Amino acid sequence: MDRAPIENGAIAVSGNRIVDVGRFDDIKTRNAGDTVDLGEQLLLPGLINAHCHLDYTCLRGKIPPQKSFTDWIRAINAKKSELSPKDYLASINDGFEQAKRFGTTTIANLTAFPELISEIQPSIRTWWLAELIDIRAPERANELVDAAIEELKQTASWGLAPHALFTASKDLFQRCEGIAQREHILLTTHLAESREEMEMFHDASGRLYEFLKNIGRPMDDCGYETPLERFWDLIGRGGPPNRPSAIEVNRPYPFWIVVHLNELAESDFDLLEQCHPKFHVVHCPRSHNYFRHGSFAFDRLRLLGFNVCLGTDSLASNESLSLFDEMRAFQKNFPQVSPHEILQMATVNPARALRNENTLGQIRPGFGADLIAIPCSASTNIFEQILGFDAPVSWAMVNGKVIASVPRGADC
Ligand SMILES: [Zn+2]
Repeated sequence: MDRAPIENGAIAVSGNRIVDVGRFDDIKTRNAGDTVDLGEQLLLPGLINAHCHLDYTCLRGKIPPQKSFTDWIRAINAKKSELSPKDYLASINDGFEQAKRFGTTTIANLTAFPELISEIQPSIRTWWLAELIDIRAPERANELVDAAIEELKQTASWGLAPHALFTASKDLFQRCEGIAQREHILLTTHLAESREEMEMFHDASGRLYEFLKNIGRPMDDCGYETPLERFWDLIGRGGPPNRPSAIEVNRPYPFWIVVHLNELAESDFDLLEQCHPKFHVVHCPRSHNYFRHGSFAFDRLRLLGFNVCLGTDSLASNESLSLFDEMRAFQKNFPQVSPHEILQMATVNPARALRNENTLGQIRPGFGADLIAIPCSASTNIFEQILGFDAPVSWAMVNGKVIASVPRGADC
């Protein structure tokens, strides 16, 4: 990822680790063992999806774009009410298969059903993130978090996902933050996703505000701040009424992976500038297009030093779980960004967000053996070829195990 592609290259794998990388002749001389010849292919680090909800894989194509974000919430709630735990189980398993087919070897998956985790054996590396919503019972926030953790603890990698500022209470956010400080787990949330969320928190008005007020959410946190300011205050970086003190406190946000950040006021950029170290940001280009959100401030966030990653979000607002599709959609919206940098947003950057930058997202000795192969031609730009790829991968390895293999000649 940070040096020129190696022609006629080879990778030596021992157990679940990469132990050597170089030209085939050199690797063969230095390493004993069986050889797998993949032919004319590009061998890449497996892709990393920084944000998705496999719960809703079965909702692909079921919700046409709605007039407003609030209408979409109503529509998905109606669909969800028709699904049983068995449906969700099938949906999650199908999601893992689809992600794997398209070259994803690591996934940060939010689930609203941590109780189903014990029935699922993902074939790819998975961070399970319990999606937590306490809008209808904020007094039970702690109970909700503790019950989720009981389920999550059986997994190798997990974290907590208070869903969003408008569905998770202050107590819920702070409970998650406290646990992360103690246990060093990941935290993620949806923030500043829609214009309606901005209207709700900043102006105490709009469709989302009315909808949530009508279902009984206390709305006393609305009418003062932007969503980012509210988030900043909630997790203990100072707080209103004296927001500048939050900046001075300047404590780190090392655990947060913040998804969306589509709606930012000019004043938010001052906060973002002074936030150090920065939290991680996930952008979901096709879900963003589906909702017709305002433009994503990629250039400004990158300039401020944010680690921006790509995610697919769920198939309730997207067409596939392919990160190749996602990279292409991003390229269409941001043609000035190099294909190499876009590939980093689905490999190196999310590895960093998952605090695995020294083991995932690159092909290097000592890194996990998570690899994918795609057919290549001798044409010009390798990275353009990668972004142009739109089929299932022909070969994939996760943690040293081959998980997908199309016989040579069948596909390339
Ligand atoms: Zn999401």
